[in-house]
Amino acid sequence: MDLQLLAQTLDELGEPPFRARQVWRWTSRGADSYESMTDLPLALRSVLAERVPFSTLAVENEAHARDGTVKALFRTADGHPVEAVLMRYRDGRRSLCLSSQSGCPLTCTFCATGQMRFGRNLTASEVVDQALHFRRLGPVDHAVFMGMGEPLMNLDAVLAACERLPDVGITARRTAISTVGWIPGIVRLAADPRPLGLALSLHAADPVLRSALMPVNDRYPLEDVLAACEDYHRRKRRKVFVEYVMLAGINDSHVQAVQLADALGSAGPNTYKVNLIPYNPTGSAFEGSSPKAIEAFRAELERRGLRATVRLTRGRDIDAACGQLAAAG
Ligand code: SF4
Repeated sequence: MDLQLLAQTLDELGEPPFRARQVWRWTSRGADSYESMTDLPLALRSVLAERVPFSTLAVENEAHARDGTVKALFRTADGHPVEAVLMRYRDGRRSLCLSSQSGCPLTCTFCATGQMRFGRNLTASEVVDQALHFRRLGPVDHAVFMGMGEPLMNLDAVLAACERLPDVGITARRTAISTVGWIPGIVRLAADPRPLGLALSLHAADPVLRSALMPVNDRYPLEDVLAACEDYHRRKRRKVFVEYVMLAGINDSHVQAVQLADALGSAGPNTYKVNLIPYNPTGSAFEGSSPKAIEAFRAELERRGLRATVRLTRGRDIDAACGQLAAAG
């Protein structure tokens, strides 16, 4: 819901300022229409339905995986595709993977989103509307900006959305922003007073390989990115999550585990936590590493004093796992 348009419309209708808060209270708690906002005058409900679209996104498709994961494909009012995912965990967590852009201007070679045409940055309302869609299915409590796009390239809208997410049930402490290493954004995030989490998509410690996988590495070399992450850690006193997608024969060797441990190790044992991500083939040239190779890589990192876990893969049967968001645009 475009809250600016809502406020402006209510103002034009001569309604008192508390009406906007009333509408938002209902919406953020999962109402699915103006119709259901029973403490709003009936006439006002129907005027709002005509003048302020209930969502800035239209749902085009919703896929449900066997493990409870739900992936939604939306369209913006001007026709851009956006995807978001709800992951339900056994411990009760309900976590959202949100998109910040339609498509992505960065072209990481292993990523399905990076292979599609870049549309545009999403507005804060379009980000929040992804979360509201899933809130209508039930309570939600965590979010990661790990869907389509590089969130730190659209940080104003992402931070504005983070201002609203606590009303939907997702506090700043339970929100993490994932980046490929967009340094100006990391610097701003470190200075933001909210306890927003930071995740770095690292994928290779060797500069030549990293640039081949993620061209952004030429603009912001890993060494500088890690310095920015370590500053974030010092200021926030929060661990930085390192995401490392495991590509068979590309970045999963023993030597590469040692390189990664060396790159991260000098910052001290509590600065980083590594998440090894089994790769989901997306029709690209890459294959995922075997469980044995992933475990050997993890064990080597641990042996060198880093905390490392293997991410549970969710929603693989509906292409909702990491790196698989790519609506045909
Ligand atoms: S991994 Fe992230 S930054 Fe890279 S192309 Fe995909 S969406 Fe963009």
